[in-house]
Amino acid sequence: MDRGVAKLGGLLETSRQAVIFTGAGISTESGIPDFRSPGGFWTRHAPIYFDEFLTSEAARRETWRRRFSMDETLKAARPNRGHVAVAELIRRGTAQTVITQNIDGLHQAAGVPADRVIELHGNTTYAACLDCNARYELEPIRAAFERDGTLPRCTRCFGLVKTATISFGQQMPLEAMREAERATRHCDLFLAMGSSLVVYPAAGFPRLAKECGATLVIINREPTELDDIADLVLHRPIGETLGQAAGIQ
Ligand code: NAD
Ligand code: ZN
Repeated sequence: MDRGVAKLGGLLETSRQAVIFTGAGISTESGIPDFRSPGGFWTRHAPIYFDEFLTSEAARRETWRRRFSMDETLKAARPNRGHVAVAELIRRGTAQTVITQNIDGLHQAAGVPADRVIELHGNTTYAACLDCNARYELEPIRAAFERDGTLPRCTRCFGLVKTATISFGQQMPLEAMREAERATRHCDLFLAMGSSLVVYPAAGFPRLAKECGATLVIINREPTELDDIADLVLHRPIGETLGQAAGIQ
């Protein structure tokens, strides 16, 4: 076994309070492109800012059109070896919390209890009313949109309905940020995987963990912004690396 992977294995054996922090890179092995991959649907279009969604019907239409254009990819995605290993580390009590920038719900699908997953950027597998927070499933919204272009409104309060994600320019979810900070301050090991660590405030967590005395490990195919402050950096694929280190097939 690679020496770095073996070192990670040793850290996982002794850790009882790890935080696992994930970005788009943990889901590429499930067929969901990351932010930067060439031709990926996330980069083909300029982002739609939250204010535009609120004020422009055309922006709302385009937002839903884009969401449904990636529906098949998201629906077909299954948890991969990396997600399975993360769920096993939670089950073993090695790690207590998963903080994710992802919106695909694959940590929960792999078996991490929902109350252990902190979603910093929300979740795109369902929708919610922006005013009263009522939850809506996507199937009926898609059916109405494709039938005659209907855009969803809340049946309770007539508020705007949007996927339960945090858009560019939208306030970060305060409770999730608070919980993520608390977990980060108290962890013994902070394992950041599949994130270029450029998007703030999310990328502030590995820094904070290090300042609070945790061991910082980064697994990412390419160099990240924080490689120079990490205790261990593995430029390797996540599924195989974490699977081997944790002894999980
Ligand atoms: P990013 O695209 O900026 O960085 C992903 C990193 O993962 C890259 O550095 C890449 O080299 C690495 N990577 C990709 N596949 C890998 C693999 N199999 N093994 C190891 N490394 C791998 O992603 P980010 O830092 O998460 O920021 C992008 C933002 O876009 C996030 O905030 C997220 O909300 C959103 N996003 C989410 C999803 C998702 O939910 N699956 C997908 C794309 C983008
Ligand atoms: Zn409502």
